[in-house]
Amino acid sequence: MSHKAHRLKTEPKLGNSLRTLQLLDRKGPLAKKQVAQTLGVTKPAALDHFRILSRENLVIPVDRKFMPGPGRPLELWDINRQDNYTIGIVIEPPLLVAGLSNFSDKLRMRCEHDISSLKATEDILPLIDEFMIGAIEYIKSHNGKLRGVWLCSAGPAHMPSQNRVDFHQYLAQNYDLPVNVSALDVAAAFGEAARFERNTIVGVIVWDMGIAIIPCQDHRVLNFHELAPAKKLGLHDIAHVIIDRRGPKCICGHNGCLEAYTGGRAIIKQIDRPDVNTLKDLIKLAQNGDEHTLTVLRDAARILGDFVASNVQIMGIEKLICTGLLSRVFPMVRDAFCQGLDRCLSPEQIQSLEIAPSDGPLDGTLLGACRVARQVFISNGNYTAVS
Ligand SMILES: [Zn+2]
Repeated sequence: MSHKAHRLKTEPKLGNSLRTLQLLDRKGPLAKKQVAQTLGVTKPAALDHFRILSRENLVIPVDRKFMPGPGRPLELWDINRQDNYTIGIVIEPPLLVAGLSNFSDKLRMRCEHDISSLKATEDILPLIDEFMIGAIEYIKSHNGKLRGVWLCSAGPAHMPSQNRVDFHQYLAQNYDLPVNVSALDVAAAFGEAARFERNTIVGVIVWDMGIAIIPCQDHRVLNFHELAPAKKLGLHDIAHVIIDRRGPKCICGHNGCLEAYTGGRAIIKQIDRPDVNTLKDLIKLAQNGDEHTLTVLRDAARILGDFVASNVQIMGIEKLICTGLLSRVFPMVRDAFCQGLDRCLSPEQIQSLEIAPSDGPLDGTLLGACRVARQVFISNGNYTAVS
C-alpha cells in the first residue's frame, strides 16, 4: 500500500486566510480580535482574512459573547460547517460506497453498489459520475460549496497502468476540484480516530490483505518519514519492518516483514486451502470455528500485539482500534493480541488502551474519506502532522 496522495490544486485565492480557517477549525468559535492575537497578525490583516473567508462562505458569525465591563459584545465566528462539503469514495470490492458530508460530519447522501459483477475497472466510472452529479446538484440546491474529493481504493488504483483506471486523472479532468486518490488506510484511520477526543493519540490498525498501524492525533496522521527522509521511510514501512530476516517472503520483495506474518494475504497463504482465497472466505471459516484457521489467526494476532507494543511506546499511543475487513475476526483473537502486548506492556497499560474493533469499518472509512478531504482543504493539502 502507498499513502502518497496526489494533489491537484489547492485554493490559492484563500492565501494566508487559510491560517484563520485552520485556527477556527481547532479553537473556534473565536472573535476576530482573538484570531489576530493568536496568529500574531495585525487587526487589519485578520479582518482581511475574515473578508476573504466570508466571501467564500467559509465562515459565519455564530454567537455573541458578553465581556465584563462596558462595550459591545464580541461577535464570535466559526467555520461554516453547514454549507461546505466534501465527497468520499471508497472502493473495497465487492463494494463501492460514496458519501457526501458537510463539514460537521453529517452524511447528506450515500450510495452503495456491488461491483463484483463488473468486467473492467472502468465500469466503475459511470457509478462514480452518477454520484458526483447527484451530489453536486444537491449542493447547488442548498447553496453550498464542494471543497474536495477523496477516493480510496483497495489495491494500487492510483497507479496508472494498462489495466487500471487512473481515477485521479479521470476526476481531475471531469470535475474542477481538488481530488486525492489513495489506498484505504488513511481514510480508515481518519474515520476511526474521529471516535475519540481530538487530542488523543489513537493507533489505528488497518487489518485487511495487508496491515497498517497508523497513529492519528488532532485530525492528522502522525508519520515518521521525516526522521530519515533520505531513506524514504514512510507510514507504510511500519508494515514492512522486518521482524525476522529469515522469515517468509513478503510482497515487497523482502523476507520476514510484519505484513508477511500478519497481513490477510499471508494468513490465507498459511491456511493453504483451495476454498480459501479471499478475506471473506477466511472470515467465514473463522466464524464457523475452524480450529486451524483460528490457530493461524491467533498466531498472527500475537505477533501483531508484540509489534504494536513497541509502537505504543514509541508513538505514545493512548487508544487502539482495529479496522479493515479482518477487524470482524478481531474479537476472536483479541486475547492472543493482548498476550502479544503483554510482553512489553503492563496489564494496566493494556487495559487503558481500550483495544476494540471498529463497529463499522466500511462506514468508518467512508466518513474518514470525507474528513480527510476536508482536512486537505483546510490545511492546504497537508493531512499529516509535519508539512
Ligand atoms: Zn514487506
